[in-house]
Amino acid sequence: MDDCIFCRIVRGELPASKIHEDAHTLSFMNIMAAHPGHALVIVKPHVDNILDLDDSLAAAVFQSTARVARAVKAATGCDGVTLFQANEVAGGQTVFHFHIHVLPRFTDDRLLPFWPASAPPRDALDAMAARLRSALAGDA
Ligand code: AMP
Ligand code: ZN
Repeated sequence: MDDCIFCRIVRGELPASKIHEDAHTLSFMNIMAAHPGHALVIVKPHVDNILDLDDSLAAAVFQSTARVARAVKAATGCDGVTLFQANEVAGGQTVFHFHIHVLPRFTDDRLLPFWPASAPPRDALDAMAARLRSALAGDA
């Protein structure tokens, strides 16, 4: 992906304030920070989003995310940490190379609105769970 911003960071063509790097992942500071310490963890190969993420990269990126989350907590003294991960335009994704946001959170920082939720009846939950089991069975 010649013009992908995050591929260009991996190749060293664009600057990044790096936090951590291993064979499969790279972690660096977000240039638009919700709070100081707002970090991004990306996979090194170009993968558009979670729908294309293979098992080994998924394992590697979550391992790095856990390490970065501990570092964010230790370095910022935040009260909590929120992970945010967006996929496709409708999911809020703006850079189309898989990444996880690691957000330091502070008590009552009112950073993220929570979605309005309803409590579906049990038969609706059971029916949806069955549809998802079928979808999973086709994704072996
Ligand atoms: P998302 O909206 O979840 O796709 O997040 C993309 C994030 O990438 C945004 O929060 C941007 O601020 C961040 N971003 C874009 N370009 C860069 C860059 N060159 N270095 C670091 N972060 C970036
Ligand atoms: Zn890319």
